[in-house]
Amino acid sequence: MIAATVFSGKKVALFGLGGSGIATAHSLIAGEADVVAWDDNPDRVDEARKAGINVADLRTVDWSAIAALVLAPGVPLTHPKPHWSVDLARPAGVEIIGDVEIFVRERRIQAPACPFIAITGTNGKSTTTALIAHILQEAGRDTQLGGNIGTAVLTLAPPKNGRFYVVECSSYQADLSPSINPTAGILLNLSPDHLDRHGTMQHYAEVKEQLVAGSDRAIVGIDDHWCARIADRLERAGTQVVRISKREVLASGYYAAGTRIMHAAGGTSRTVADLAGITTLRGAHNAQNAAAAIAACLAVGLSQEEAISGLRSFGGLKHRMQPVARRGRVLFVNDSKATNADAAAPALSSFKRIYWIAGGLPKEGGIEPLSSWYSHIAKAYLIGEAAPGFAATLGEDVAYEITGTLERAVERAADDAAQDGDEEPVILLSPACASFDQYKNFEIRGDAFVKQVAHLPDITMLVETGDS
Ligand code: ADP
Repeated sequence: MIAATVFSGKKVALFGLGGSGIATAHSLIAGEADVVAWDDNPDRVDEARKAGINVADLRTVDWSAIAALVLAPGVPLTHPKPHWSVDLARPAGVEIIGDVEIFVRERRIQAPACPFIAITGTNGKSTTTALIAHILQEAGRDTQLGGNIGTAVLTLAPPKNGRFYVVECSSYQADLSPSINPTAGILLNLSPDHLDRHGTMQHYAEVKEQLVAGSDRAIVGIDDHWCARIADRLERAGTQVVRISKREVLASGYYAAGTRIMHAAGGTSRTVADLAGITTLRGAHNAQNAAAAIAACLAVGLSQEEAISGLRSFGGLKHRMQPVARRGRVLFVNDSKATNADAAAPALSSFKRIYWIAGGLPKEGGIEPLSSWYSHIAKAYLIGEAAPGFAATLGEDVAYEITGTLERAVERAADDAAQDGDEEPVILLSPACASFDQYKNFEIRGDAFVKQVAHLPDITMLVETGDS
């Protein structure tokens, strides 16, 4: 744990007592701050009290004595409307920050030179974060991985010279970290998301921009116009910018040419890495993630050889285009995290002969946006509440079967794929739906898929079948 000394001897209000809130409270207390914490959920307040944290309704405290309000990232700062604790802090002139901000201030005090990579963007954050941490570990660096990916940043080991931090930041965390100054800041991409919490795309983009604007080196994916403009703006402001593209040949930066990652500078281009055969990094979206990871590792001092040598052994993340088993030529892929059509598109585009398991609780827009990939689908197996609607959308264009359950879908798809003459038919769970009609969450749905696959005869598992 990092003992956050930045508020030593000061009174700090903390709102939001989920996992990261409790961790933040402990970190502040260890640094000798006087913490007063609260949550709208009485069970959370009880838990915090039992954990030895001083709790009080923040409506009853004297805000003139408070140095900062620390908000959990799930608590609305601006939209749809500011949380009531924000409305109390603002008029009292109390700054409002999150745990990542506490981390960056602590790093500035304890070890300002220790390498810090922060990753944000609409899609690909966790994959890129995990990939960078893997490359650093493989290169023998003392690596701390945390943030939005699961481990609260203040539970990591304290900053010291030679220790590398790889921190995934959601837009909420970026919003609450006004002075974030990573050695390398990555902004992968921007598309409309979480606008309920940010109001407009403009505001969402501004929040993400702030993370790269404070970086010593800003690594920006320029394939959408929001990020392209951010890269130009940062460069004009004097920030060192490294551009990344998954589809354009760049004059300067890193871009994908098929499976190859190219580096362009001074009028010439050369191949830096080839992702061919790396099953965990298939597809153009993963080329974007890998290019950003390489650029970040170079920015924190790895040699080019070190920066690419970990790519091949990257195990991937669970439930995200994760190869889980083989049966003869047939590959089984768990992409349960794809809970809407946009998220399913990368997987459907990455494989050419797909036995597609889709459905669950449908999202607005259904699967129509996926029509450009229908030619990749040998057959669809439709499950859950979405099945009749998806069947109607697929119509005559794609062969399908309503199997209802995931179990039945796996059996049917396995039988059909076994007859396929293609060199690598893929059975893909990429539901383009939420899971809640049949499973508690996408992780449990993905685990159910893996368990079901493990029961097939003659199967070679590539992963363990334990629960998440
Ligand atoms: P995040 O942490 O931003 O939600 P993940 O790394 O967990 O992203 O990936 C979630 C899904 O998003 C993946 O299964 C894949 O379908 C898609 N994805 C991953 N990387 C990218 C990218 N660079 N661009 C677009 N989509 C991506």
